[in-house]
Amino acid sequence: MTTRILVTGGAGFIGSHYVRTLLGPAGPGEVAVTVLDALTYAGNPANLDEVRDHPQLTFVKGDICDGELVDELLAEHDEVVHFAAESHVDRSILGATDFIRTNVLGTQTLLDAALRHRVGRFVHVSTDEVYGSIDTGSWPETDPLSPNSPYAASKASSDLIALAQHRTHGLDVRVTRCSNNYGHHQFPEKVIPLFITNLLDCKKVPLYGDGGNVRDWLHIDDHVQGIELVRTNGRAGEVYNIGGGTELTNKELTALLLEACGAEWDTGVEYVADRKGHDRRYSVDCRKARDELGYEPRKDFATGLAETVSWYRENRAWWEPLKKRAAL
Ligand code: NAD
Repeated sequence: MTTRILVTGGAGFIGSHYVRTLLGPAGPGEVAVTVLDALTYAGNPANLDEVRDHPQLTFVKGDICDGELVDELLAEHDEVVHFAAESHVDRSILGATDFIRTNVLGTQTLLDAALRHRVGRFVHVSTDEVYGSIDTGSWPETDPLSPNSPYAASKASSDLIALAQHRTHGLDVRVTRCSNNYGHHQFPEKVIPLFITNLLDCKKVPLYGDGGNVRDWLHIDDHVQGIELVRTNGRAGEVYNIGGGTELTNKELTALLLEACGAEWDTGVEYVADRKGHDRRYSVDCRKARDELGYEPRKDFATGLAETVSWYRENRAWWEPLKKRAAL
């Protein structure tokens, strides 16, 4: 029997990769996908070009805060994988209203409709940023949430609201908390595509503070693998950390990107004032996903980064218009 999956935010970076994978040759088969996406500045219909004519894909342009639309859609779907969000920390520091509206209210709108229609599974895509910042060690899923940026606080709110819907009403909700994603089709405001596209244009890259902030890098193939494992084999009411296993300081990352693009540190890097409230380090403990679901990140970082740089080199027509849209 065909499983009808509503994918919110399916025109964004990770959501579109999830949809392309579900409907591609490596997908599970027997799925019909509806993408619900408002096409904000970050949403891009071109991200779905590869599967545009797929008979099992329907695209709906709409807002997850639109209760009537969401209700109609959930009446016709078996499962939800929820990516839609305002996702850029720097924008949340300039103004948090859209973040609260979409990430909190939008998630609640989806959860309420999912409950009314007794949707079978609801995968909520959260983030490691909900845990706060950690100097040493890694967070297990049981650690308390302590978000710092308005973005992270909005994601922590939606993460907890999703879990509450399970604990209070018994809805089958599964939460994933992943680390920093990278790969092709990422909007060029995020650090890796921003730096690559600047360097390809012979511009400097802006490095925050002392460059010592540490992130764990997760390739989108691995993230999609993790989400699918949670959707298909995870347990209701459970949280699963999904990490990439490559920790780098921003300085180390910048050096790798400069090398990949043939640029020099002295002429390529501009130190800029640190991001307000900049979390020093994120690190998720992924043993639960590994032991329960067999999750292992497979993409070697050097290979994934080289492929990503090549993709941006070869796809100027995709990112050049977006760079203009990205201007804060
Ligand atoms: P993205 O910004 O590339 O895409 C977000 C998508 O959501 C866009 O297509 C946008 O049009 C859509 N959207 C925004 N507001 C909407 C609304 N009100 N109604 C309907 N659609 C709306 O984001 P991404 O990087 O693909 O992230 C996807 C999810 O993964 C988000 O929930 C994000 O918080 C989470 N996440 C991302 C990362 C990362 O490194 N990118 C890390 C951890 C968690």
